[in-house]
Amino acid sequence: MKREFAVIGLGRFGGSICKELSIEGMEVLAIDNNEDRINEYKNIASHAVIADATDEVSLKELGIKNIDHVIVAIGDDIQASILTTVILTELGIKKITVKAQNDYHAKILNKIGADQVVHPERDMGKRIAHSIISNNILDYLELSDDHSIVEVKVGEKMLGKTLAELDIRANYGCNVVAIKHGKDINVSPSADHRFLEGDILIVIGADKDIFRFEKHLVIEE
Ligand code: ADP
Repeated sequence: MKREFAVIGLGRFGGSICKELSIEGMEVLAIDNNEDRINEYKNIASHAVIADATDEVSLKELGIKNIDHVIVAIGDDIQASILTTVILTELGIKKITVKAQNDYHAKILNKIGADQVVHPERDMGKRIAHSIISNNILDYLELSDDHSIVEVKVGEKMLGKTLAELDIRANYGCNVVAIKHGKDINVSPSADHRFLEGDILIVIGADKDIFRFEKHLVIEE
């Protein structure tokens, strides 16, 4: 069954969400108050409409109430983003995702009832910072304020040793949930897995534990 989405604000972030949802075959109503942006998305989204999202009447006329999930991706205009979110919560939209510009904005969005608040720039900044600390840190995903998942290349000190020998859980408090090698992926690897050059580990844990693990076993001096 096709699910219905609306994306409000077709800047880089909202535009990219709109494109991906459309590629995946989802019904997307694209809304922006800028005519050029709407023209750009006319042939991408199922419907693309010029409207000011802070105008409740316009949103109602567009049938926004029937949409399952609305994504508010209004950029710098924090006031418009907040007002739009308030209108959507008052209209009883089932799921509202909003892009926050900063922590204050995020706090307000959570208070007024946004179901999901995302910080794409901040999150991408963190991921890139981790990848530039070491070439061995391939990716980083924040799970909460103090827990993450990282994807790291096997460190030289780990080569030839087994998971049991390194005892990463006992020594560093984090868990190796999968090991990739080329196209193969070994989910929940057994304790006798012996590390080889080219192994890539997916590790989950508290940031402080992951940091110790990376420092001792992954980052080469
Ligand atoms: P990004 O940082 O993701 O590139 P931008 O600030 O470039 O975001 O884009 C935000 C989009 O939101 C713009 O296309 C702008 O026209 C649209 N927008 C801003 N305010 C409103 C509003 N009140 N109603 C509808 N669209 C809006």
